[in-house]
Amino acid sequence: MQRITVIGGGFAGLTAAITAAEAGAKVTVHEAHHTLGGRARTGDGPYRTNEGPHALYRGGPHWTWLRGRDLIGPLAPVPPRELARFRLRHRGTLRRTPPLPLLKLLRHSADRAPVDTDFHTWATPIAGEDGARAAAHYAAVALFHHDPGSLSAAFVQERLRRATRLPPEAHYPRGGWGALIDRMAAHAWNLGVRVETLSRVDTLPTDTPVVVATSLDSARRLLGDTSLTWPSGRTVLIDLAVRTRRGDAFVVSDLDAPGWLERFTAQDRTLAPAGEQLVQGQIPIAPHETKAHGTARAEELLDLALPGWRDRVTWRREAIADGRTGAVDPPGTSWRDRPAIDRGDGVHLAGDQVAAPGVLSEVSFHSALTAVSLALGRNTLDLKRA
Ligand SMILES: Cc1cc2nc3c(=O)[nH]c(=O)nc-3n(C[C@H](O)[C@H](O)[C@H](O)COP(=O)(O)OP(=O)(O)OC[C@H]3O[C@@H](n4cnc5c(N)ncnc54)[C@H](O)[C@@H]3O)c2cc1C
Repeated sequence: MQRITVIGGGFAGLTAAITAAEAGAKVTVHEAHHTLGGRARTGDGPYRTNEGPHALYRGGPHWTWLRGRDLIGPLAPVPPRELARFRLRHRGTLRRTPPLPLLKLLRHSADRAPVDTDFHTWATPIAGEDGARAAAHYAAVALFHHDPGSLSAAFVQERLRRATRLPPEAHYPRGGWGALIDRMAAHAWNLGVRVETLSRVDTLPTDTPVVVATSLDSARRLLGDTSLTWPSGRTVLIDLAVRTRRGDAFVVSDLDAPGWLERFTAQDRTLAPAGEQLVQGQIPIAPHETKAHGTARAEELLDLALPGWRDRVTWRREAIADGRTGAVDPPGTSWRDRPAIDRGDGVHLAGDQVAAPGVLSEVSFHSALTAVSLALGRNTLDLKRA
């Protein structure tokens, strides 16, 4: 029986562990934290917040894989009355429908945007300055960067397409991603995977092939390889619980600057106590900006979306997710240019900043399958079927 060590017990590590165990390998997972899940952990306590993922994109390869193993579990659909409370901020006011130039750009979604040009330069002749900017800012929900228009046009277009598809691709596991992680962990356990939590690895094992399924920053330290870098976003996160008031917006997507506000209890009542709503603001900030800049922009959106919110707050938390929102590709680069999965000597990387396709956690998923297939010397397609 082949043995394999997986370092990191987040979405990538659990995907790798399950895939390797299904292929017949004896798997050990080391997770530094006391619980599994990494950025996909859901907070304990009355307010079930996620640092990272909320949306499971239905068009991604992970959806089919998870569903085939009965791991998705119950979903929290957005009620139609809440969907009707989806708003866009454009030129300082809230509106229900996208500005026409943005729609024009979506109609061009069949044309493949170039890799070598930035999104703003590519989109401006089609949609005008304002439409190009609005589209780039809308796409920020799936890339978390302070200046999406400056990134590769192909990269931004893919995210814009995925985030605007109808019916929406975004689905929400009931109870947050923590519930999905629990199901993956139970499945791994049933397959005989050995999981060691509170087990930070400082030196790579040499007696088994290894999948390093940590963030790229941790992988750089662990492998002692300074070339393991790739740009990512820097995003202020504001989690807020407020007393319920009829008529609060469900989502506000900021088209004037990158930013997104979502009341996650609209689709999932289990995330906060009765009578309260859980809201998260995600505001990408520039390298020179501070948390206070992001907080101020989030509060502007809250003023528009949730009238009287300041008097209704029952709980609040702020954080910066720096380099934790996955890879962004500058013009002239694509996912193929990111750090390679195969590092030689039986060491392979999995995670959301390495050379694999997809949006956000799909990169972690895809790279985990590839890392295992390389580590075990099997074809990825065979592994997918396993
Ligand atoms: C604000 C935000 C919003 C997001 N929204 C979405 C979304 O809507 N949809 C989506 O699909 N994705 C989303 N993402 C991205 C998603 O969270 C990540 O792509 C995914 O969770 C990454 O999983 P991972 O396993 O690759 O890495 P991680 O979750 O970072 O897991 C790595 C694990 O490795 C462990 N570790 C690190 N070093 C060591 C060591 N030396 N030894 C042992 N263990 C170690 C860590 O403790 C951690 O548990 C979002 C992310 C953020 C931050």
